[in-house]
Amino acid sequence: MRWGLIGASTIAEQHMIGAFRATGGDVKAVVSTTATRAKDFANKNGIAGAGTELSVVLDDPSIEAVYISSMNEKHRAQALAAIGAGKHVLCEKPLAMTVAEAAGMVMAADKAGRVFATNHHLRCSGSHRAIRDLIVRGRIGRVLSLRLFHAVHLPESLQGWRINDAAAGGGVIPDITVHDADVARFLLGEDPSAVVAQMGASGMGQGVEDSAMSVWSMPSGAMVMSHESFTHPFAGSGLEVHGSEGSIFARGVMTQQPVGEIELVTAACREAVPFPAHSLYVQGVRDFLSAVAGQGQPAAAGVDGVASLAVALAVREAARTGIRQVVDYARAA
Ligand code: NDP
Repeated sequence: MRWGLIGASTIAEQHMIGAFRATGGDVKAVVSTTATRAKDFANKNGIAGAGTELSVVLDDPSIEAVYISSMNEKHRAQALAAIGAGKHVLCEKPLAMTVAEAAGMVMAADKAGRVFATNHHLRCSGSHRAIRDLIVRGRIGRVLSLRLFHAVHLPESLQGWRINDAAAGGGVIPDITVHDADVARFLLGEDPSAVVAQMGASGMGQGVEDSAMSVWSMPSGAMVMSHESFTHPFAGSGLEVHGSEGSIFARGVMTQQPVGEIELVTAACREAVPFPAHSLYVQGVRDFLSAVAGQGQPAAAGVDGVASLAVALAVREAARTGIRQVVDYARAA
């Protein structure tokens, strides 16, 4: 696959370029809003093409797929342009600033017959797939609750637009709550129906929340408790799924690395659960390539990105108003 990058970003440099190359791909060009940044990024990462115009990527007929990892408010226009140019698109989360915008991106890709995927990496991990497998095989019985611990410390190098710029899509809710919404949907196989929430800003940034806690109701009656933050250096991440016949305890599994531990506890056992330690991002790209080849869906399709955004925005609205919000998937259909 020949890839074009829109966004000279940290995630592209640290994870995605390697994942494209590890799956036999060629990264042909990168677009940045700044000419020197585009050139520097290209030189540093061994990419031949660089520029500030989308045409650098979109007008090159040899480029089949585009990876978008710019600031959040840019995703929509760039994705629509890429789809319009006939490219398949792997887009970073959150897909857009509103659910309606994100749904429009999915519709445009469907209409154009292009693959459009969301880069929700956690559902690509061996750990999350092993946990879902335990749930699906009935090892913990009926699921009663899920607790998601995703309070991390935002590295200083990333303490820019994410914590200072609401217009660019900053805030922990569009950044991390979207991932947690996807995890809940992936593990439990159902969509949160309503949420209550609180959010806070500790002073790390300005104008956006850096912490959120919320509780989600699931159609089955299960409850989800979710905690996201940019300000917790030592909290560690994890999740617990509690069922009528057992519990799953997973530590260190809400990360970009294939790490962590899973323990299954039932009346009959307390056992460590093994899982494959493949790269989350390589797996995501593999699934994307299969979808382009006509074999199945990407790990997280566009509709999954719409749904995760719908949950995250409901959390923010619930926290802002203090009022329980029914998650509005109508515009996500
Ligand atoms: P970065 O802040 O590193 O990059 C985002 C954009 O900011 C870049 O495209 C670039 O714009 C600009 N930028 C970055 N560094 C500089 C700099 N030193 N000077 C000037 N401009 C700069 O963000 P991330 O890589 O962390 O995130 C990018 C996207 O990926 C976001 O949408 C985020 O939500 C998502 N993400 C997803 C993850 C996942 O696991 N799925 C993990 C991390 C992020 P330009 O290209 O115009 O130069």
